[in-house]
Amino acid sequence: MTIFAEGKQEQELTSDWQARDHRHYLHPFTDHRELGNKGTRIITAADGVYIRDSGGSEILDGMAGLWCVNLGYGRQELIDAATRQMQQLPYYNSFFQTAHPPVIELSTLLNEVSPPPFKHTFFTGSGSEANDTVVKLVRRYWDLLGMPGKRVIVSRINAYHGSTVAASTLGGMSEMHKQTGVLLPDVEHIEQPYQYELSGGLSEAEFGLQQAGLLEQKILELGAENVAAFIGEPVQGAGGVIIPPETYWPEIQRICRQYEILLIADEVITGFGRLGEWFGSQRLGIEADLMPFAKGVTSGYLPLGGVLVADRVADVVIARGGEFAHGYTYSGHPAACAVALENIRILRDEGIIERVRDDTGPYFNRRWAQLADHPLVGEARSIGLMGAIEIVADKIRKERFPKDLGAGAICRDFCFDNGLVMRAVGDSMIVSPPLVMVRKQFDELVEKAWQSLDLTAKTLGQAL
Ligand SMILES: *Cc1c(COP(=O)(O)O)cnc(C)c1O
Repeated sequence: MTIFAEGKQEQELTSDWQARDHRHYLHPFTDHRELGNKGTRIITAADGVYIRDSGGSEILDGMAGLWCVNLGYGRQELIDAATRQMQQLPYYNSFFQTAHPPVIELSTLLNEVSPPPFKHTFFTGSGSEANDTVVKLVRRYWDLLGMPGKRVIVSRINAYHGSTVAASTLGGMSEMHKQTGVLLPDVEHIEQPYQYELSGGLSEAEFGLQQAGLLEQKILELGAENVAAFIGEPVQGAGGVIIPPETYWPEIQRICRQYEILLIADEVITGFGRLGEWFGSQRLGIEADLMPFAKGVTSGYLPLGGVLVADRVADVVIARGGEFAHGYTYSGHPAACAVALENIRILRDEGIIERVRDDTGPYFNRRWAQLADHPLVGEARSIGLMGAIEIVADKIRKERFPKDLGAGAICRDFCFDNGLVMRAVGDSMIVSPPLVMVRKQFDELVEKAWQSLDLTAKTLGQAL
């Protein structure tokens, strides 16, 4: 790989970059004082499923960037698509009775690859904006139907739906709620289907029904005439790759139908192949009314998000007329749409999603499950190409390490030093590899994870 050949000059630059980074760059989701002490890792290049830092280290990207680089790095077709579109028409909006070919073609292609009821797409620049759009679409839908009282959106504790004020409110992250201050009204949260932490003695099937039943309880408490929608990630991502029991989504679906509330599947991570189907909803049997997406739609090469709108909602919003007073300057950005078109074509023409479903997914699931044999691992779970392990002090009693030890962060740092990106959510370690990863790279991922767990165990043993 030529891009990994010469890193010397960059090494000399690293400390300078780190100093200027600290002086001028305010990072997202970061404790600045802590980062200043540790120093930023500067990523300078990437190819395939590896990234390279300014010290010249090659690192296997177990997170596909931030759940998004599904085709891996360096796909020339995506670069060419962006270049061609920028030469032809780098920007135009679609506010005032205008449109351009890439946004029309992409809307059409999304209709082809999504389940039949989804014929329309509203575009945004990100997943957070997609979920802001969801809030407004849901309210507009019930207003137009003459039921403006249906306003409450039910979400879940520890959900992640993005970081704008509306998306933070929909999410169930308590730290984000605290710092957001005034949250949107009419959003309620129920407990999540986190089996490892919450199932007590219940069987998986019972636990799934119990957690889904919390939605019914909430609806009865609020009155169905006041509830507009339920939103959930098919598999919670940022919360720690929380895979619901098989009984969970069918029961949620039943409840939504019974009480006539819209069902929103936040497909920002699970869309475009991560679970071995085009959408996570298809894998888990969810028939949603709205599907916000982002991340994998462009493999992260350019920012793009949107909301797939099912006929039930689109028919009302379109047929009843009146302006939907919502949009972004970059809604349907032509270059981003051109990249998405090429990305989706490659996913389809190279059969990448089928490969995840039939081959690499099951292989990863088997290899990942072996991590459960490690003395530090309380559970190793995965679905499609999403995986998590729970780091525990006592496997049998499911006892965690004291929080201030930061077991997850210790493990994450060992992973990085060992040439693997694995993310820590508290003491859960999570991965979401590029969809193009091959078997021997999954072997490498699991071996590096095991070695890093060994080193973590040693460090924690000394700390206790
Ligand atoms: C990342 C994410 C978002 C937010 O997307 P951004 O592009 O970061 O705004 C929303 N929902 C889910 C499930 C996500 O993982």
